[in-house]
Amino acid sequence: MPKLAVLGYPVAHSRSPAMQNAALAQLGLGGEWSYEAIEVAPEGFEAVVRALPADGFEGVNVTVPHKGAALALADEATEMAKEIGAANTLVFADGRIQAHNTDAGGVLASLPIAPGGVRALVLGAGGAARAAVWALGTAGARVDIWNRTPARADDIRIEFESGETIRIQVKAAPGPEPDLDQSVYDLIVNTTTVGLHGEDPFAHLPLRRDGFVPGQTVLDMVYGEAPSTLLAAAAAAGAGVVDGLEVLVQQGALSFKIWTGLDAPVDVMRAAAYSLDGS
Ligand code: NAP
Repeated sequence: MPKLAVLGYPVAHSRSPAMQNAALAQLGLGGEWSYEAIEVAPEGFEAVVRALPADGFEGVNVTVPHKGAALALADEATEMAKEIGAANTLVFADGRIQAHNTDAGGVLASLPIAPGGVRALVLGAGGAARAAVWALGTAGARVDIWNRTPARADDIRIEFESGETIRIQVKAAPGPEPDLDQSVYDLIVNTTTVGLHGEDPFAHLPLRRDGFVPGQTVLDMVYGEAPSTLLAAAAAAGAGVVDGLEVLVQQGALSFKIWTGLDAPVDVMRAAAYSLDGS
């Protein structure tokens, strides 16, 4: 019986098992395939992964804090995973470990707009930001990055910018920069952890509560129960909003296809992901 899992630390809160098992059941694979959550600390990660194929696992999702380690231990990786510098999906085949990144595709699939030529602001410079900047940049958006620690944003620019192909500018600031004009952006993406534990985004990020405009799209990668404070303010101004759960659903759908070769039932996955408590 082929097995799948998500590996993280912690991972008990993950919505991926409910989402992926719902998809397997929908396609009549529920009796054959299974998907579980496995908590593994960083020091045990590589040994656990290497033991999984012998235990019947076909592949896994990998989440915080293991995405860099997953790429490092793989025998082969997609260009996308290599360029982003992280893998969230592993496939075990023919005694080898393949690394993929579906976070970037998940960001693009979640957007109601085509990113080509749009002006985008990405807040943050961690793992989620790398996937978002790479996705938007390669899709032709002009990307500005703001991060609390500007040097990390600059690292992404130096690594990803490539002449006319990926255009990135860093909005350097030692703290929230109220003068940043958020109204000029077609797309604003929050990839920071601000909001995860109830922090006020307008106290930590260079955005004004009343600064959103109709026609903009705002994506908050942080997800929880209710629309986030950020998305509530954006929606009140008439902007289009996308929450982080949609990105989770879309990256999960891409991983599902990689493992099973089948198109994922995205609506079923979305319903399962949104019906759970926790994040
Ligand atoms: P990470 O690598 O730890 O990066 C955290 C980012 O948040 C850094 O840029 C950090 O800035 C910034 N930050 C933290 N506290 C801040 C504050 N008080 N004010 C301003 N900036 C602050 O985390 P990650 O893996 O990128 O994940 C970021 C968020 O995205 C998490 O909430 C995660 O759950 C979410 N996420 C969602 C999905 C999805 O599918 N929806 C996928 C991946 C991640 P510094 O560099 O200055 O520390």
